[in-house]
Amino acid sequence: MDSVRTDKNVLKHYLELPQPEDQVQCEYIWIDGTGQGIRSKCRTLDSEPKDPSDCPVWNYDGSSTYQAEGSNSDMYLHPVAIYRDPFRRGNNKLVLCEVYKYNKIPADTNKRHSCKKVMDLAKEAHPWFGIEQEYTLLDSTKYPFGWPKNGFPGPQGPYYCGVGATKVFGRDVVEAHYRACLYAGIKIAGCNAEVMPAQWEFQVGPCEGIVMGDQLWIARYILDRVAEDFGIVVSYDPKPMIGDWNGAGAHTNYSTKEMREPGGIKAIEEAIKKLSKQHARHIKCYDPRGGEDNKRRLTGHHETSSIEDFSAGVANRGASIRIPRQVAEDGMGYLEDRRPASNCDPYSVTEAIIVTTVLEE
Ligand code: ADP
Ligand code: MN
Ligand code: MN
Ligand code: MN
Ligand code: MN
Repeated sequence: MDSVRTDKNVLKHYLELPQPEDQVQCEYIWIDGTGQGIRSKCRTLDSEPKDPSDCPVWNYDGSSTYQAEGSNSDMYLHPVAIYRDPFRRGNNKLVLCEVYKYNKIPADTNKRHSCKKVMDLAKEAHPWFGIEQEYTLLDSTKYPFGWPKNGFPGPQGPYYCGVGATKVFGRDVVEAHYRACLYAGIKIAGCNAEVMPAQWEFQVGPCEGIVMGDQLWIARYILDRVAEDFGIVVSYDPKPMIGDWNGAGAHTNYSTKEMREPGGIKAIEEAIKKLSKQHARHIKCYDPRGGEDNKRRLTGHHETSSIEDFSAGVANRGASIRIPRQVAEDGMGYLEDRRPASNCDPYSVTEAIIVTTVLEE
């Protein structure tokens, strides 16, 4: 695999060529038919877009992204958010898009469309989300990065928030990703090494409404691109290694304005009560395969709750919903839904939470 890697110093020469000011590169980014894979392609605009509406609607071949038949394959890209491009820099942009079929119906994996409607309806509640994105770095053979070639590292214990060459693997990717997110305008809140070696986490948020999904997808795109530059693969699989190894989740922290104000713990408890009645519906929305992926992860072990049961508790990392200790003490704040899988679509997760806790009586 090493032979397919190129010399980045050679590339640097070309990227230092002056770029004409009226020639802006826009990388259109979208979610493919798997509901997990990210695709992108580039086009030149003749001025710097200041708003997604400055970027024209575009199209692509959906038969090559598991999204359409070859005979009727045009899919449409509708720009919905723009970010500074940390790879090309300058005026260049990352352009997040929603995907529509030829007949203007949202693509099956366009979960943003309905999420946006729901967020608009719930606007008055001012819902904030913060997602903890866990992921695993793999080498070019798809084995966890830095693990001994034909075996396993020592048991879990020293790796979480670890420091040192035998404790963490791939920190360069993590550091590069963090700065690239800051540059792009992503509200990255933090990062840490995880319990399983080569597993990491970054957090995005708090973000209000639809912005949560938008920012997390762009943060994932940036991570995939950064890792590509290092010849490393990112896995969002919720249980990449079977055995006594932690899986990967996307804990979703959530609050409404009411929850954030004094006495808000009451609203938090009411929301938990509503969530308790919709456990099965939420599990369906918390991974891209209707709960199948989470079955491997939500075992009741390795800091997870059982996929079968709903539970909630203060500071309980083995529960479906955790109320952070500080929130219980303050009597206000937010709750943490620990069920979403690392490969979830944040639009589906945040939509389900709002439907259950705000829109349904
Ligand atoms: P954990 O203790 O579970 O590891 P983290 O520190 O990794 O928690 O992540 C906490 C997340 O909660 C962050 O993304 C942060 O932005 C988010 N968060 C903080 N306050 C709120 C709030 N009031 N509403 C929603 N999310 C919040
Ligand atoms: Mn072509
Ligand atoms: Mn965390
Ligand atoms: Mn974590
Ligand atoms: Mn957490």
